[in-house]
Amino acid sequence: MSEKYDVAIIGAGIGGLVCGCYLAKAGLKVIIVEQQNKPGGYCTSFERQGYRFDVGVHYLGSLREKGVLSEILRGLDLLDRIKLIRNDPTDRIITPDKTIFIRKDQNKTINELISHFPKEKENIKRLFNLIINEDFLSLYSKLRNRTFQDLLDIFLTDHKLKAILSTMLGNLGLSSSQSSGFVGAIIYKEFVLDGGYYPKGGIQNLPDLLAEKFREYGGVLLLSNRVTRIMTKQKKVMGVKLQDKGCIVSKFVVSNVDAHLTFNTLLDCECNERKVVNKLKISNSAFVVYLGLKKQLNIKPKHFTTWFFSTYDIEKCYNFQSDKKKQLIPSFDYLLCSFPSLIDKSLVPSGKGIMRIFVGARYASVKMWENSKNELYNKIITRASRMLPDLAESIELKVIGTPRSFYNYTSNRNGALFGWQALPSQTSKSIFPYQTSIKNLYLSGHWVTNGMGQSGISVVALSGREAAKIIVSAKG
Ligand SMILES: Cc1cc2nc3c(=O)[nH]c(=O)nc-3n(C[C@H](O)[C@H](O)[C@H](O)COP(=O)(O)OP(=O)(O)OC[C@H]3O[C@@H](n4cnc5c(N)ncnc54)[C@H](O)[C@@H]3O)c2cc1C
Repeated sequence: MSEKYDVAIIGAGIGGLVCGCYLAKAGLKVIIVEQQNKPGGYCTSFERQGYRFDVGVHYLGSLREKGVLSEILRGLDLLDRIKLIRNDPTDRIITPDKTIFIRKDQNKTINELISHFPKEKENIKRLFNLIINEDFLSLYSKLRNRTFQDLLDIFLTDHKLKAILSTMLGNLGLSSSQSSGFVGAIIYKEFVLDGGYYPKGGIQNLPDLLAEKFREYGGVLLLSNRVTRIMTKQKKVMGVKLQDKGCIVSKFVVSNVDAHLTFNTLLDCECNERKVVNKLKISNSAFVVYLGLKKQLNIKPKHFTTWFFSTYDIEKCYNFQSDKKKQLIPSFDYLLCSFPSLIDKSLVPSGKGIMRIFVGARYASVKMWENSKNELYNKIITRASRMLPDLAESIELKVIGTPRSFYNYTSNRNGALFGWQALPSQTSKSIFPYQTSIKNLYLSGHWVTNGMGQSGISVVALSGREAAKIIVSAKG
């Protein structure tokens, strides 16, 4: 194949798909190359023995009327085509002595926190007033140099309340003393207070719909093929080479894949970005257990995700640096458990259930993971059984995902879940912008620092739309 396109996009993660849709909608001739046999990257589902599991993403945020993701999907006429389920409550946080629910209605969530910490009533209101009512720019200018812990310390006094609010930074895989205050605030604004949206039938429906729309606009989605080279001439993009079927000639290339891969492996010339990628810190990975259950678990009220903590030392749970022994799983003091079949029965055979358990983990050799994963699985099931006594006897299928699995599936370095770490020093727009030093090579996806932090699908979708806008105006 040696066809000519305006734009070749590497990777059909959500960033690449959204970018492709907006470019094709604007009339450009676009091809997306994806190494897997389906689109979605971390936002995909897989089936085993009639159970449908979501690989990474557990639910979507930012889908309120004027939410970032709503606007992006509306711009593609997809908002009415995606069937979303949103349960109330969405999440449950269990600590050694409290159970707190995250509600659909943000005021109810705030009142729930106040009911547990009445002395902090005014402080809680002031904190959430800032998060909810200030716009992105204002939050950025106030919080960009602070950590999320700084933000909590400014407003709150109770250490348990601060710890409980830190639990949600598990969505970044960072502790509150590490995470950018701005990104932590965005996690609350766009994901905790406006989260819990689930595409009926599984998370795969989102990339499938985007792929369908992309094709409707005339785009070409080439699956099961890998880009092996980004071709340049005098530091200007010429197209991409494929593992199978030759090459694609294109005026622009968008890389929606791991930044190390883009600049250290795919790109065929020297560039400034090589030095930068080697200096920045990447996000952590995870160990994920996918369980097929003989019966639905008896969990009331029904909700999507339980954050289960056996300690208030959340710093120790999420901060890998505090684990001096460098264990594969630095902390078993928390588990993030999702119960999608409680909310959507179409994911399982009649009467059965699924559950997913997630805990932060380190990348290590294949051998280390092979030797340890069953033992670690047993430890996790024992821990989870404290909360769900009938869990072990209900399991009829288990699938284990390690950082190696995440790397193998997506080529994200070391199985990084969210691109760069959302440290205060790593969120500025200028660190890893859409535009690169190579003419007509652009970036999208969770390796772009668009200033919003790496807070999941809505931010990644935004990166795709913004990259497309820049290319459309560059094309003239
Ligand atoms: C366990 C887990 C839980 C998460 N939970 C949530 C959540 O609940 N909500 C949320 O909003 N976000 C969540 N996230 C984050 C979210 O999934 C990611 O930020 C987002 O999906 C990243 O999208 P992306 O477009 O940047 O790329 P990716 O999803 O990384 O996709 C990159 C794609 O490029 C392809 N590719 C790589 N190299 C090549 C090549 N050389 N040639 C062709 N194709 C290539 C890969 O196969 C892949 O399909 C979670 C992530 C994980 C892993």
